[in-house]
Amino acid sequence: CGIVGYIGSKEAQDIMLEGLGKLEYRGYDSAGLAVYNGETIGVRKSKGRLAELEEKLQVRFLPGSLGIGHTRWATHGKPSDENAHPHVDEQGLFAVVHNGIIENYIELKEELIAKGYQFTSETDTEVVAKLLADIWDGDLVSTVRKVVQRLNGAYALGVISEYEPDKLVAVRLASPLVVGIGENENFIASDIPAILKYTRDVYILEDGELAVLTATDVELMRLDGTPIERNVMKVHWDI
Ligand code: GLU
Repeated sequence: CGIVGYIGSKEAQDIMLEGLGKLEYRGYDSAGLAVYNGETIGVRKSKGRLAELEEKLQVRFLPGSLGIGHTRWATHGKPSDENAHPHVDEQGLFAVVHNGIIENYIELKEELIAKGYQFTSETDTEVVAKLLADIWDGDLVSTVRKVVQRLNGAYALGVISEYEPDKLVAVRLASPLVVGIGENENFIASDIPAILKYTRDVYILEDGELAVLTATDVELMRLDGTPIERNVMKVHWDI
């Protein structure tokens, strides 16, 4: 339902909680964050309101300046801590947030289970995390491109990995996603209000487009890797 991601030098947790708060009006049943702390990716998630996630974070803060956050509106699997996003692979090397529906997830899940992967949620989304680990080819952007070629349905995805912690990758098909351009920090969000406090410069992603964010740069490309040139859109309205 709601996605916010951050790469820069501030505490990602605070920016993502703030951003997800701005998307609360859309409705959701659970929320979660994944943040890279310089060594590993930490995940906190909770069924219920953002306030419940915030309570967990008060007990154990997630430090770090690269992260992805999500508010979930369940389509596959009941609202629960386990089914909340982000979802990770078995080693916790990849984390993913997802809006939309992966139509062919049962087929993909069966294939991955046959290979020995164990699933911890009932969501369609978890196949994406396991596929990232399974298809990993040593390059995050190339791996994400290969993974999404296996997916049917609608998705906006945010992906981070311990392998390339200087990057945040986002991709969309039939589910909205925007990139916010800051100074030495960049953002993704499922809707502009989530990041308007931090920047008014955005790229609106179109279907079949992928964005690669570092703290200082944003690259847009098609799923086949063809680079895209796009003018920055200035947001003139307020929330
Ligand atoms: N289909 C996913 C799930 O049920 C994502 C739902 C959403 O867009 O929030 O977990």
